[in-house]
Amino acid sequence: MLIQSLVEGEQEKKQIEKYKYFKQRSERIVKIYISADMEGISGVATQMQLKKESEYQRFRHLMTADVNAAIEGAFEGGATEVVVCDGHGNMSNILIEELDPRAELISGNNRVMCQLEGLDDSFDGLFLVGYHGREGGSERGVLNHTLAGGCIQEIRWNGCPMGEAEINATVAGFYGVPALLVTGDDVVAEEAGRLIPGIETAVVKAGVDRFAARLMPPQKARSLIREKASAALQKREKISPLAGEVPVTVDMDFSSTNQALMTTTMPGVELIRPKTIRFTAGDCVTAYKWMWAAIIIGMAASQGVLGNVNA
Ligand SMILES: [Zn+2]
Repeated sequence: MLIQSLVEGEQEKKQIEKYKYFKQRSERIVKIYISADMEGISGVATQMQLKKESEYQRFRHLMTADVNAAIEGAFEGGATEVVVCDGHGNMSNILIEELDPRAELISGNNRVMCQLEGLDDSFDGLFLVGYHGREGGSERGVLNHTLAGGCIQEIRWNGCPMGEAEINATVAGFYGVPALLVTGDDVVAEEAGRLIPGIETAVVKAGVDRFAARLMPPQKARSLIREKASAALQKREKISPLAGEVPVTVDMDFSSTNQALMTTTMPGVELIRPKTIRFTAGDCVTAYKWMWAAIIIGMAASQGVLGNVNA
């Protein structure tokens, strides 16, 4: 009995020490993870602006500036560390030489966790900067698509259509990280707000059509992003991390049958309609990885998976 209570006393002491450590840590360190996309960046209205041969270089500056505004707001609101994850296209858009030097950047593709690479339970909040509405969610959603335009028509988690903002906020919830801020058009603000009560939204444009928007001038938009980012941080205790429902059954509608069929090479993936696949994962992170894998296969299959082998 005595030994037992000594052991319990030790454990209790250790618990208290651990609690103190975390309390001190939480008073000291506030880490923000910024996942950045491009379609919802202030000034962006058409797909041509983001194509390499067009005005893409110009829009890389604008993207970096919106991200900088979010970083500035985060530090103003009490953040002590910021990690930025470039999550658009080939995931190397943000200009590191123009990035606020207080932040670090995850750049480049070949990532297991796609737009959330490096996110873990040490973070205190997620910002979604430059995001856009889901494919087909609203006819006004500027450049609306879901992860891979030309490949994905709709993604449903447990029957619920999900855009990138909603999916990423759900995965962050797995790590106990609340989604605090979304920036982009009014459509993504509404879509994210429906799933995440209390999320701050910086609406930098009003959607007119998939390829048209009423734009707020970038200088004004950046002030708004900074202000909302700071406000989001200050109220972070009031926004709960999403408790994603598990297991997760993911349905993915592809644009063509060849994209869907090739994903059935993965174990557990079944074709439920000629262009629709289904799989079930035990947790949100696994669901996310499998969903990303299915997209990679689907994109490769668009041109025939071995299309360039003889090139
Ligand atoms: Zn996107």
